[in-house]
Amino acid sequence: MRSLDIRTQTTLTRGPRPHSAVVLFASTAMLIVALLGTGCSPSATPAQASTCDHHVASDAKDSLVQFSLLAALASGDYENGTSLRDVLASGDFGIGTFSRLDGEMIVLSGQMYQALGDGTIRLANLNGCTPFAAVTFFEEDGQFEHLAAATLDDLDTQLDRKLPRRNSPYALRIDGEFAQLTLRSVPAQSPPFQPLVSVVKHQSTWAHQKVRGTLVGFRCPSWVGTLNVPGYHWHFLSDDRKLGGHVLACEFGDGTLRFDECTSLLIHLPQSTEFDAFNNDSVKHQDINQIERERK
Ligand SMILES: [Zn+2]
Repeated sequence: MRSLDIRTQTTLTRGPRPHSAVVLFASTAMLIVALLGTGCSPSATPAQASTCDHHVASDAKDSLVQFSLLAALASGDYENGTSLRDVLASGDFGIGTFSRLDGEMIVLSGQMYQALGDGTIRLANLNGCTPFAAVTFFEEDGQFEHLAAATLDDLDTQLDRKLPRRNSPYALRIDGEFAQLTLRSVPAQSPPFQPLVSVVKHQSTWAHQKVRGTLVGFRCPSWVGTLNVPGYHWHFLSDDRKLGGHVLACEFGDGTLRFDECTSLLIHLPQSTEFDAFNNDSVKHQDINQIERERK
């Protein structure tokens, strides 16, 4: 598979990073962009203690792995894409959509669920494809109990204060009973595809009360631009696996948040002719906000 990986790597240590550099490695199959700590003094001798503040884990389990760019999806590149089995091989937790935008994807504990445009939930048929998804292997780095939030904006503000790092992506799950919840999904689209900002004008929304379940989401730093959603992006799945979708609003009184800090970002690029024709300048930040950050 032709792929181009953009990998940003942040330090695994908690100390300050006085210097950073952007390093580009290019090969026929891979491009890696790394934010590497460069605390090693050029004049250091082997006898001196290392001052490097960045050590890279040998496994990729802490990577946020995404398939395509959100901007490419937003432009209308909805069809086919990556095998759902390949997505699950890259993570057991995450969110996304399906070929032709046939519902909202929720990946939780290694199972992939599909919240369809009619509001029903099913286990995804893994023979299918996705034009956009983001997953990681959820390995808890910390948790906060007894979290309460009146709105999604309230939740954002609290988590911005609580999460340790500002410029690292986080995988986030919140388990609890949700007093109020507004979900959306979209029906499968047919060609010629309209831009996503037009499609979501026809989304279906549902309001629910007193539902136990899990918010599954990510917080991406602002530097992701239109590669993904800057800020918080939440999907939901009920404990009984009967309700789910993209979250437009929620309120809860006693949730448990678990977080997993991602130390790298890996982007697999589509191989489609649609992606070759995609113009990154055609999708603006405000479109991404309208599509994925709308709040009710
Ligand atoms: Zn979503």
